[in-house]
Amino acid sequence: AHVVTEACFNCKYTDCVVVCPVECFYEGESMVYINPDECIDCEACVPECPVEAIFHEDNLPEKWQEYTQINADKSQEL
Ligand code: SF4
Repeated sequence: AHVVTEACFNCKYTDCVVVCPVECFYEGESMVYINPDECIDCEACVPECPVEAIFHEDNLPEKWQEYTQINADKSQEL
């Protein structure tokens, strides 16, 4: 699945959300999250992100490793 990272914090662009064919983005108060069970890894959202916050879980920068779990948890709460 793809993962939204800290770079999204306080980013109010939702260009990524709009292009997702399976509507698996969930909008939190400060950022958006991807539901890993729904993401089909189409990568459509990656080039749309103006702050390069979205990565495949296998390519997550070291400092943002915890965001895989954060996306899973938050997307299910919202
Ligand atoms: Fe949606 Fe595709 Fe991005 Fe997954 S990779 S969140 S399915 S646009």
